[in-house]
Amino acid sequence: MRGAVMLDRIIYVTGYGRSGSTLLDMMLGAHPQVFGAGEMSTICRHVWPNDEYCACHARVRACPLWSDAVTEWQASGIDLDRHAMLQRRIEPILSHARRGAALRDYCDQTLALYRIVARRTGRPVLLDSSKSPGRALALARAGVDLRLIHLVRDPRAVAHSMSVPMQVDTEAGVQKTLPAHPVARTALRWSFVNAGAEAALRRIAPAHGLRLRYEDLVADPQGALARIGATVGLDLDAVGAAIAAGGTIAAEHQVAGSRIRMTGAMTLRPDMGWQRRMSPRAQAVVAGLCGARMRRYGYAAGGTGSASA
Ligand SMILES: [Zn+2]
Repeated sequence: MRGAVMLDRIIYVTGYGRSGSTLLDMMLGAHPQVFGAGEMSTICRHVWPNDEYCACHARVRACPLWSDAVTEWQASGIDLDRHAMLQRRIEPILSHARRGAALRDYCDQTLALYRIVARRTGRPVLLDSSKSPGRALALARAGVDLRLIHLVRDPRAVAHSMSVPMQVDTEAGVQKTLPAHPVARTALRWSFVNAGAEAALRRIAPAHGLRLRYEDLVADPQGALARIGATVGLDLDAVGAAIAAGGTIAAEHQVAGSRIRMTGAMTLRPDMGWQRRMSPRAQAVVAGLCGARMRRYGYAAGGTGSASA
């Protein structure tokens, strides 16, 4: 009875890039009620216009889910270019447009697509891992049951990851050539975006929001999923037990996200390689710029950040 399924709630993952949001999307998507949609904010901005690859390895305009869902959304009167324009006004963290008619239009149009996807997938809980705090700030005012997960990762790991350039390979999930970013730039942006995510968390009921560290998610997936389950109102114990026992997770139709969504079924493997590969000097630069926030999240600026938040 797929046609009978109505959107019940949104799980939104916010935070900075390279923090494990695609991994978390895949883990939560293993629950039968949850559809892990990936970074939905990219659909109008570049995924649909460029006909990029869905995690199912079809181009999005040929994907059995997104081609029909977006076509239905357009048929309801949505102009994708105009929606992208609305996004440019609403989604910046410091936007002044996040009120009035523009905000209403943005929320109405976004929720319309969420509802279409819930109905077409037959899953009442939609997970959008777009990350953008501005999108979370807007959705917090949309009058929808929103559950927010603020995913953080040690900024040294993030800065190291972004210091390695990546060549474009759309089929492998890299949508454009990514230059090497200086670690100081990443450190400053990490602080700014996480401050925005904290502002979004303050906008919703405390019981409906959670800050989660990537390091805790991969070290103890069962414990992390139990905490997430309490926040999002789902029993995730079976999913957590399966992953902790070495069971595989796989992307389905994540419309955008990191390249791991293209790798097929995979087991959970903590990625802590930065601790070996990142120079002490680069680590010190990041710790110097992010120190106060790092400590607040439980990362010891002089160590490897194993304390609990
Ligand atoms: Zn697909």
